[in-house]
Amino acid sequence: MICFSAAGKADRLWDVLVVGAGVAGAMAAYGAARRGLSVLLIDKAAFPRGKACGCCLNQAAVLLLEEAQFNIRALGATPLDRFYLACGGTTAKIPIPSGLAISREVLDMALINHAQNVGAAFMPRTTAQATAAFSTHREVSVVQDGIVGSVRAKIVLVADGLGGRLLRADDGLEIAANSRVGIAGMLEYPTQGYAPGIIYMACGKRGYAGLVTVENQRLHIAAALDVHAARDAAGAANALAEIIRDSGLPVPAGLPACRWHGAPALTRHRSRLFETRLFVLGDSAGYVEPFSGEGMAWALAGAKRILPLLEQAVTEWRDELGLQWQKQFRKLVGSRHRTCRAVTLVLRNRAITRLAVEALKMSPGLAGPLVRQINRPVAMA
Ligand SMILES: Cc1cc2nc3c(=O)[nH]c(=O)nc-3n(C[C@H](O)[C@H](O)[C@H](O)COP(=O)(O)OP(=O)(O)OC[C@H]3O[C@@H](n4cnc5c(N)ncnc54)[C@H](O)[C@@H]3O)c2cc1C
Repeated sequence: MICFSAAGKADRLWDVLVVGAGVAGAMAAYGAARRGLSVLLIDKAAFPRGKACGCCLNQAAVLLLEEAQFNIRALGATPLDRFYLACGGTTAKIPIPSGLAISREVLDMALINHAQNVGAAFMPRTTAQATAAFSTHREVSVVQDGIVGSVRAKIVLVADGLGGRLLRADDGLEIAANSRVGIAGMLEYPTQGYAPGIIYMACGKRGYAGLVTVENQRLHIAAALDVHAARDAAGAANALAEIIRDSGLPVPAGLPACRWHGAPALTRHRSRLFETRLFVLGDSAGYVEPFSGEGMAWALAGAKRILPLLEQAVTEWRDELGLQWQKQFRKLVGSRHRTCRAVTLVLRNRAITRLAVEALKMSPGLAGPLVRQINRPVAMA
């Protein structure tokens, strides 16, 4: 554990401070430490911790993890090979390229350990509150267990996710007016009607919910809901039960006992992905509703892609590096964000969704081009 000095200041100058130890932050910390940079990774949460996520790694994400020598298969993840899309009592059964389902408690903790194994330092329960740039470094004020201090680093990577507040709200962040919100929870036992290896996607009037078996036979549920759906149904469990019932899938017993993790407005775009000596990555850089289950692949790809720029920035900061990152990030995920957004907008029309599910039930192969696009490796050009 790295302690603050008595004056509340940490004197050490790190090469890189990573704020947020989700998939983007932990993977960036791993990559930076692997390149010989001194790295401090911080997160406001105590780990292991769950979070609002569907917990499905598509083929592109699995590939990125394996390229980083991360042994995802040793963690007991459940192999996935089918996607059941249910709406209005009809279910289409679509084959998908092999993916994996794993809880974020297990995945994120293992990724942090992976970064620590190559030399990154990690401080949980440490919240970054504000940051200021100086000519040679950045300073970030942090609070850990009620103790206020500051961390100095040549470069700061902001990977604080959808709920992140480190950057000012007016700092180029646009949230889509009709954006849905996220919610997720875990049923700690196997549930009748839900077999391992299948992603069940229930489409309802006010959102959609994905159900999948993760390690230890637990059933994980994640959903994108209209912003007032939970309030109008008198609670998240009721809103989810409504969506699942409406789709024709069985409502898991035990929903009311679930402990929920929430995520704020999901669809968002950040126009500026850098400040002096600071890069933004992961969901904090922009996100689209989770229907296609690609968020972790986007986050991992960004964490890998930023490394050459990060190395240069540690040696000497130039705004040109920030502009390059912006361009590269858009190239990396821009078309994928657009496709995902188009699909989720179509899904808001119930009649079209029902027709699509009927058609896919008859000919599952119709989904082939979209399924291949979602799972293809994220290009690192
Ligand atoms: C309902 C839902 C379902 C989803 N389903 C899938 C799916 O099936 N497959 C998939 O690939 N993707 C899915 N996603 C997307 C996926 O969860 C994200 O894209 C991914 O987690 C992004 O990783 P990240 O590291 O950018 O952010 P996060 O994983 O959110 O990590 C951000 C971290 O920053 C920390 N933090 C925030 N503020 C501070 C601060 N001030 N100081 C210190 N730490 C801070 C948080 O505690 C958190 O640990 C889903 C998302 C939602 C909402």
